[in-house]
Amino acid sequence: MWVDSATTAGRLRWRGVAVGAKNSRPIPSVTGECELGGQAMRNSEAEKDSESFAAALRTLEGQRYPLDGGASKVLRFMLERPEGCDADISADRFEIRFGWHPARHRYYLRTAPAILSQVLTLAGAPSGQRRVHATIGPATMHAAQFPAWSFAPRRIWLEASLSSIAIQVRNASEASASATEPPPIPPPIELAPSFLDFPSPFPCLHCSTTALKYRHLHDGALVCGACGRSFRLSDA
Ligand SMILES: [Zn+2]
Repeated sequence: MWVDSATTAGRLRWRGVAVGAKNSRPIPSVTGECELGGQAMRNSEAEKDSESFAAALRTLEGQRYPLDGGASKVLRFMLERPEGCDADISADRFEIRFGWHPARHRYYLRTAPAILSQVLTLAGAPSGQRRVHATIGPATMHAAQFPAWSFAPRRIWLEASLSSIAIQVRNASEASASATEPPPIPPPIELAPSFLDFPSPFPCLHCSTTALKYRHLHDGALVCGACGRSFRLSDA
């Protein structure tokens, strides 16, 4: 099934805002306030799409779908940033929580088959496997009508049943990527982000912007609200 990329781009939405080529990536937030713009996607817009979910399941049997611009954009959200994400796919919804903004975001299910095709191919997953753990990347992704983008090594966990597919993406350090034992499935990204307060303005190690409050990831890293990159206090 080939999804016309122009059609997909017109239908794909980011919290209710149509995602076009000119839309910028979401802005990270240290306050937990939504800065992604627009109103939340209405529930009525999240329509059941059994056909796309059936296609998503077929990727586990080895079927592959080409990456179009709309699917590439969602996949970039999933893989590009080190904070990772939790994605849940069923016939009713394609929902993602991102490590830098752990509210729930819904995407059109028609993007799922191409996204899964890429993830499974990158993971080298054999056909018929319903549980996949792999380190993927670094890689550069190309799709028609969407700029190429790259991502650093990521650990992915995928678990599928006949009614749902769950994907977790986390940053993979060189040490963790070379470990022989697969790590346990990480805890889900929390809906309520935690923060670390500083008594005086503290500069980001990457961009030097100071802040009194930083997003605190469960692996201990702090996320800069200005540049969106993460760092550890032990590196300060
Ligand atoms: Zn920064």
